[in-house]
Amino acid sequence: MFETRNPAKSGQVIASYSPNSPAEVNAALKVARTAQRIWAEQGAASRERTLSAFVAALQDRAEDLAEAITMEQGKPLGEARGEVAKSLSESRFMTAQILAPIGEVMPSARPGVRSWTMRRPRGVVAGITPWNFPVLTPLRKVMPALAFANAIVLKPSELTPKAALIIENCARENLPGGLVQCVIGGVEVGRALIGDGEVDAITFTGSVEVGRGIYRMAAENLTEISLELGGKNPAIINDTGNLDGCLDQLFNAAMICAGQRCTSISRIIVAEPLAEAVIAGLARRAEAAVVGDGMTDGVTIGPLISAAHRDKVAAYVAAAEKDGARLVTGGLPDADRGLDDGYFYLPTILAGVRPDSRIFQEEVFGPVLSITTYDKFDDALSLANSVRYGLSSSLFSERQEVVERFLAESQSGMLHVNHGTTPDSHMPFGGIKDSGVGAPSVGRSAAAFYTTEHAAYTMPKA
Ligand code: NAD
Repeated sequence: MFETRNPAKSGQVIASYSPNSPAEVNAALKVARTAQRIWAEQGAASRERTLSAFVAALQDRAEDLAEAITMEQGKPLGEARGEVAKSLSESRFMTAQILAPIGEVMPSARPGVRSWTMRRPRGVVAGITPWNFPVLTPLRKVMPALAFANAIVLKPSELTPKAALIIENCARENLPGGLVQCVIGGVEVGRALIGDGEVDAITFTGSVEVGRGIYRMAAENLTEISLELGGKNPAIINDTGNLDGCLDQLFNAAMICAGQRCTSISRIIVAEPLAEAVIAGLARRAEAAVVGDGMTDGVTIGPLISAAHRDKVAAYVAAAEKDGARLVTGGLPDADRGLDDGYFYLPTILAGVRPDSRIFQEEVFGPVLSITTYDKFDDALSLANSVRYGLSSSLFSERQEVVERFLAESQSGMLHVNHGTTPDSHMPFGGIKDSGVGAPSVGRSAAAFYTTEHAAYTMPKA
């Protein structure tokens, strides 16, 4: 058995779980295999109706899902409600894809031969997800898997299984049995799920280090893989006619989920003349933030996921200061703030961060914004691109030539001009470099991972 605890009140146990044994994981895969065949035989219109009912059931449990997120993960309840709403919006889009065109009719090279491409479901998909978005990330795998007529066995993070089990429950009540199953536990359960080559595709969201190991395991069995990994996302502030609007967006993009988002902005790269105003504006916003228990009204930033993670964030900040950065505001809360019960870290602004500092290069996954200045836009671009990640990037500029260069040269999967890093529910989501492997998820490109493509040649007679 293992327990989850409220990261805002470390003494409060939220739930106890018994991890699944390898034999139980295997049994789940067998059930999924049969369920998938039956699901794929249904007509697309019937699958669309069934999935719509599933999404409606999730909508009915929206408040339970949001509370499960806040209790185990810690983000403010309003933010958790936003996560659920976004997940449902993506889910509706994926449901509609069931009836969208798939495949192409091609010009025929030979008279009388019809040449066309078609797609088939992969079969049984394994999904492994992290703790920072306990509803969004699981549904981002469950929905495209089902929409393209697959079955899925999901292993949610052992730190946040509660919401995934609500999703499984809605599936049990609204979908054919065995199409969506959760297996619960940590590394061992993840290994049991993907180690034997029993699944047809693996979709993993998590850290680069674990992703690398999973890529190796998939290679051993030549299993199709999608990896959605970390980020070290830059925002370049070159020029703006609305500095307050720019800083509002960037502060939010950095601090939502206490900075524990793969797409969090963590590096501000600012033109030297704007630096002083940017530092002061971000510090004002950090000091106005309300840090506390996510279930309390008015709280804007919740705790970090664990004591170990909070200590890791604090160590990154201490090392940056050693490298010469200036702590403008933030750090560990003082004892008199009444935050001792949880794993809190204040929104932190670091100025004068050196590009060779670890905090500039590595994913911190906390509420910490580093600020580095530049003279020429060339330098801004090379600083932005100087990390191994390539997930999301942002530019603030109203100059056409600057925008065009950013769009052509910024090394990231998602590019934002004059706004933060919030993605749409129907757009591809994914990164390049160490931030991901395989086609982006969400949107129409999900078909590339969740289906196999076939070339078909047909003649009326031999
Ligand atoms: P993690 O890599 O430690 O764990 C992710 C999942 O993998 C968990 O369910 C864990 O139990 C499982 N796991 C760990 N070792 C395993 C193994 N050897 N075999 C099989 N499964 C294993 O990540 P985390 O700490 O839960 O999440 C934070 C990371 O996730 C950050 O790096 C963040 O950037 C990344 N992330 C990426 C995206 C994206 O879409 N690109 C989204 C959210 C989070």
